[in-house]
Amino acid sequence: MELFFFYILFSVLVGFHADSKGYSGINFFVLAILLSPIIGFITTLILSPTTEEIEDKEIATGNKKRCPECVELVKLDASVCKHCGHTFT
Ligand SMILES: [Zn+2]
Repeated sequence: MELFFFYILFSVLVGFHADSKGYSGINFFVLAILLSPIIGFITTLILSPTTEEIEDKEIATGNKKRCPECVELVKLDASVCKHCGHTFT
């Protein structure tokens, strides 16, 4: 019974780890339940963070901003977007 509890607990942790890398936590939780939490955890370790997750971190740390015209990331100090030429005011 305790083993079952830890199996579920580690599957939930795999879900949270996948979520922190920008993937669906629910999907990885189900994957961990079906295969095993160890296989699920190794899978989340191998996967690199999604582009969305990397961009969100760049904005959160204040290194970059999103261009309102082309929605690409540019440096915070940029006055002109390098992707579309939009001028920041
Ligand atoms: Zn732009």
